[in-house]
Amino acid sequence: MTWSSRHATWVPSINMGRCRSCGLCYFTCPTISRENEDVSWLRFLGPVNGSWLGYSTNKLIRWKAASGGVITSLLIMALKEKVIDGAVVVKMKTGVNPVPKAVIATTPSEIIEASTSKYCIVLLSANVQRSICLHLGLFCGGLPTYNGTLYLLTRLGVYGKAITDLTYRGGGWPGRLLIKTSDGVVIKSRYPQYWDNSFLYFVPKCCLTCMDVFNRDADVAVGDAWLPRIIETDSLGTSLIIARTERGKELVELARDKGYIHVEPISISEVMLSQLHKVLIAKEFRGEHHTAYTAVEVARIRVGRAIARMRVWPLLNIYNQFTTQLLKLARYMRKLIS
Ligand code: SF4
Ligand code: SF4
Repeated sequence: MTWSSRHATWVPSINMGRCRSCGLCYFTCPTISRENEDVSWLRFLGPVNGSWLGYSTNKLIRWKAASGGVITSLLIMALKEKVIDGAVVVKMKTGVNPVPKAVIATTPSEIIEASTSKYCIVLLSANVQRSICLHLGLFCGGLPTYNGTLYLLTRLGVYGKAITDLTYRGGGWPGRLLIKTSDGVVIKSRYPQYWDNSFLYFVPKCCLTCMDVFNRDADVAVGDAWLPRIIETDSLGTSLIIARTERGKELVELARDKGYIHVEPISISEVMLSQLHKVLIAKEFRGEHHTAYTAVEVARIRVGRAIARMRVWPLLNIYNQFTTQLLKLARYMRKLIS
């Protein structure tokens, strides 16, 4: 992997001298559109060995997390039960231009410290990758390049300042962005607001066609429960949990039995419903047209990405304001129609 300052992210590079042209990378990549590829709902969902709605029974963990704090609690239990010796987690490195960094946590407090979302690719050495025995993965709606964070800092007037805390999500659900600077400035912004109107435009093209929304290769995949009944009632956070392997299922059930998490079964159709928007957008980017709403949304993202690529921040600000109003209107119309 090499850092591309043009794209503000890590990009893979192939050593052509060693490549055997086996095609494995091409055929396993979930972002490439291929002719006659199965893009059914079930292909998106991946294997399911159990699905639940749940949250950490520790209120502080739940409050600090991006959604229900389930991954944090599962990791703490796995550590205490000696299923793992340590967990690869991502922490924010503060300072001017704060960046996320992968670290190995060996205590519950280190795991808690690293909880909640980070929005940037981090690197892992091959040695660390080889020693991973359990994969707890997140649902993924796309990962913005680091330019997304830089744009956000600029828009909020703290670019170039020493940042002492940058928390992308947390503080209940769906959470908020929290930025603190060394000179005492504290900024808060609601999560859906800054994600939809900033980060989305910095998501690489490959993420927009990605079919790995539900993290198909994890032992346990976890994500936000974007379901009407949760959105209307929950301000603390609830996660959707999918166990894919037997090992993953045992871990969730052990955590439930030992009281680390509270879970209740949920149907596959509700799991799918929770990420319907992202799946529809990915299908639309793959050329499968669905509704007028998704077509407008895709057009909005395309134009926003073009402006973001030019780095004309004031124009992006104006575009943001305009599309925010447009989105509100579209949602209102959709509600009226349905
Ligand atoms: S997976 Fe196969 S095709 Fe891809 S880089 Fe490696 S050797 Fe080459
Ligand atoms: S959307 Fe897909 S390609 Fe993009 S970061 Fe997520 S899993 Fe990776």
